Amino acid sequence: MKELLAFCGLDCEQCDAYIATANNDDALREKTAKAWSELYNSPIKPEHINCEGCRADGVKLIYCEKYCEIRQCALKKNMNNCGE
Ligand code: SF4
Repeated sequence: MKELLAFCGLDCEQCDAYIATANNDDALREKTAKAWSELYNSPIKPEHINCEGCRADGVKLIYCEKYCEIRQCALKKNMNNCGE
């Protein structure tokens, strides 16, 4: 299975947080933080936009790491994805 496919099925390679992190792109961090702050009605700052992917080693967006229930469920059940 592709490592950058999230437990929920999202393709982390297409995610702006992943792309900004992979390219160390501060302009994309700014743009993504602004867009996600409005979308999720939450104070997301550019410095929060750092993620190497849901199932990969390394830094993750705090929501995906700590609050995503799908990720927590799959990890607890030792599954590769929600579909299993
Ligand atoms: S785990 Fe990271 S790269 Fe994947 S969808 Fe969440 S924020 Fe984006």
